[in-house]
Amino acid sequence: MVTYNTYNYLLSDIKKLKGVGLKTSNLFKKKKISTIFDLLWKLPKSYTDRSVSTKIENLKIGEIQTVTLVPYKYNFPRIRNLPNRVNCRDETGELDCIFFNSYEGYVKKILPLNIKITVSGKISKFKNRYQITNPKYVSRDASLIKYKHNNYSLTEGISEKIYNNIINQILKNLPKIEEWHNKKILERFNNISWKEAIVKLHSPENVGKFKSNFYERLAYDEILASFLVCSEIRRKIRKIKKQKKTFHLVYQKQLLSKLDFKLTNDQKKSLDEINQDLKSNHKMFRLLQGDVGSGKTIVSLTAAYNVVKSGFQVAVMTPTEILARQHYKLAKKIFEDDINIDLLSSKSLYKEKKEIVKKLSEKKIDIIFGTHSIFQKKVKFKKLGFIIIDEQHKFGVNQRKKLSDKGGDNCDILLMSATPIPRTLTMTIYGDMDLSIIKEKPKSRFEVNTYSKLESKIDDVIKFIKKQINNGSQVFWVCPLIEESKKLDHSSAIKKYEYLKKIFPKQVALLHGKTEIDQKEIILNKFLKNEFKILVSTTIIEVGIDFPNANVIIIENSNKFGLSQLHQLRGRVGRGNKQATCILVFKSSLTENAKKRLNILKESTDGFVISEEDMKLRGFGDILGFKQSGTKIFKLADPIHNSDLFELANNEIKQMEKNNEDINKYKILMKLYDQADIINDIV
Ligand code: ADP
Ligand code: MG
Repeated sequence: MVTYNTYNYLLSDIKKLKGVGLKTSNLFKKKKISTIFDLLWKLPKSYTDRSVSTKIENLKIGEIQTVTLVPYKYNFPRIRNLPNRVNCRDETGELDCIFFNSYEGYVKKILPLNIKITVSGKISKFKNRYQITNPKYVSRDASLIKYKHNNYSLTEGISEKIYNNIINQILKNLPKIEEWHNKKILERFNNISWKEAIVKLHSPENVGKFKSNFYERLAYDEILASFLVCSEIRRKIRKIKKQKKTFHLVYQKQLLSKLDFKLTNDQKKSLDEINQDLKSNHKMFRLLQGDVGSGKTIVSLTAAYNVVKSGFQVAVMTPTEILARQHYKLAKKIFEDDINIDLLSSKSLYKEKKEIVKKLSEKKIDIIFGTHSIFQKKVKFKKLGFIIIDEQHKFGVNQRKKLSDKGGDNCDILLMSATPIPRTLTMTIYGDMDLSIIKEKPKSRFEVNTYSKLESKIDDVIKFIKKQINNGSQVFWVCPLIEESKKLDHSSAIKKYEYLKKIFPKQVALLHGKTEIDQKEIILNKFLKNEFKILVSTTIIEVGIDFPNANVIIIENSNKFGLSQLHQLRGRVGRGNKQATCILVFKSSLTENAKKRLNILKESTDGFVISEEDMKLRGFGDILGFKQSGTKIFKLADPIHNSDLFELANNEIKQMEKNNEDINKYKILMKLYDQADIINDIV
């Protein structure tokens, strides 16, 4: 049994601290700081050295200095707007403390006459006398002032003095915690303990020392904590025994031979990995990651085919009906009448739906396509063996955990994501899953030509589009968030829509954040059927949908997007057999950095490379909107700068899994880093 006493202090409410009342604690809570442990990560940005006293004759004007002196006379003018003034001196000279808007009583209390006082503040000179205006640091006890004061990026309403008091108080009371790391790992960080590391983290001299032992150790702690949770989930899923799926590869061969292309090596490898899982007696929980257009669908459908041949049913879940319909159509084409497939749509008649539900329960349907509606309570499968979930990169660990329970023990799970992200992020976000990656793209594909254009040259863009439309193409026109405000976002799209409608009458439609889901699907369907030519939109249209006839994408205010996002948007076009174009429109001429970013996009079509570069340029929190989506981001660790620590943790976890190590000794670590709830939930 683990005793939690050692760190009860750390996990207690900040109100337990001296000087933190309801008001301060509420201010902190707004910043998501509620426990003492949370406060540890509120790091100083710099420090002010008030540790040395200076004699008055040596004071430097304009600097923050500390003086020990004796007040000897009050001047309280009776005229409004004139400050109260206290004359003070030491053996070398004179200095006045000046108070604007302060009561006499207060001034007398903090600066009693003829008693030695230490004062610290910015030194100025007025009418040839040194002075400190509105001194905040005044005390008879010099030790309360004479130290290096950390400067924090302040939470509104909480002063630096309070911060320093609070943090100092915590550092004094830090409990000693039993070490969780093994010898080898500890040596990597020069054997620094957690407690020592925390103290160093808050030492003024250590501000910004990201490559030091104490910083790296603490960063590693939190990386490991998050990886451990994933590992536990994975371990638990792996323990589930399932009925093996037995099938002969001859069916797969027949199926693939009917296609007019050959699988790429990465597609083959991924399919092999999936087949291995299907045939094993442990439950599959796998992510198939690959760029837009890398050919994930055929891989998953082939696997689905194998599962059907082994006697089980398959459910293919997509985020939208259109995507479900597209997959269904493709499946119809490649499976012909060999197996029974159907589509469960919200638009189906009640009678049809009832019929589908009945057939599923009788195993008269082998593969069902649909949105999350295929998992309604009333839908019962006779023998569900495989769930494929397309384009769902927005699930959190907890949600995925629930997914993995769906369909029962015999049900294998494959998630597909068209969001290539850097390796360190994949480890973090998808650490609970096994991974198949398709890096290589089908060769026959045209690459999208990418250009940049100033907004003032919009007429050229219009001319270009006219030509393209005359040649039978369709166009996406994307208006991004101009500000964080949604209102502006959609008004800019509406304006653009009005503008384009005049130039291209009856050929433009609009989608924005407020368009109802049903309405959205209707518009997208019309676009798919080529009923109009230009689709103006703000929201990102699901990357998975194929619009084979859309060849041009215009992205306004392009610098507002991250590279990965631009790459994803660009992936909406070029899915047909014509050359496609992406035009990035900019408001003003590009900065050096923006040019650099743009060149990466022009030169590379590899989503993994682009996301890696994007992360280097913008920091990982910004890419792919992880910040907005609220994905928990590390307090200290950084997937770019600490990539070695991510690798280290990953190896460590693999080793632990291999040796079937008991993770009990990490319980405290996980509890501290707020991961234990997930663990309790799953273990
Ligand atoms: P995504 O990975 O984005 O889901 P899709 O599976 O929709 O990509 O594939 C995009 C297009 O590429 C489809 O039209 C598909 O038929 C085609 N495709 C898939 N694999 C290959 C391949 N190996 N060679 C040529 N074309 C392929
Ligand atoms: Mg897809």
